[in-house]
Amino acid sequence: MILKRLQVGVYAANCYIIADEEAQEGIIVDPGGDSEKIYQLTNSMGIKIKEIVLTHGHHDHIGGADALRTLTKAPISIHKKDAEMTEDPEKNLSVMMYGPDSNFMVDKKLSDGDIITFGSKSLKVIHTPGHTLGGICLYGESVLISGDTLFERSVGRSDLYGGDHDTLIRSIKNKLLILEDDTKVYPGHGSDTTIAIEKKSNPFLR
Ligand SMILES: [Zn+2]
Ligand SMILES: [Zn+2]
Repeated sequence: MILKRLQVGVYAANCYIIADEEAQEGIIVDPGGDSEKIYQLTNSMGIKIKEIVLTHGHHDHIGGADALRTLTKAPISIHKKDAEMTEDPEKNLSVMMYGPDSNFMVDKKLSDGDIITFGSKSLKVIHTPGHTLGGICLYGESVLISGDTLFERSVGRSDLYGGDHDTLIRSIKNKLLILEDDTKVYPGHGSDTTIAIEKKSNPFLR
């Protein structure tokens, strides 16, 4: 499985290109901006984009999604509880962030346990509320895409619309720390980590 990280947009959020190299088919997770750059890169890699998956509804993760959909013709998906956010610049914070507002409808609403497939690879949707109501992580192939739920030695903030700190910690402990220790974790900001490192040294999870 190919997994490539790009920092996109003025907030330098992590966008991931995840693909099956044999089938040359993949998904884009969290295109927060720079849709043209993402599109060019996937083209140069020879990858056809099957789906644009949003880990949650904040502008720094969704800002380039609508334009990328136009370029790739791929559907956009988000958890059903965050679907309202892409259509609401107040809730997705684009009113207070740099650049044009995010205001678009998604094509597909996800639920916990849904499977996202591309080529012969698949990732499972894990609903991890706490940063937002409908935040998700994607898990499979010994990889966890953790959005703004879990960061390297930190966790997402919970003071924005739909956030709740206790819910966030419960999501992480009950749904993420139970994964295999050697699972590589790729967050929505900052460096990658592993489940083992976070279990041992994340000060928010003591
Ligand atoms: Zn966020
Ligand atoms: Zn973010």
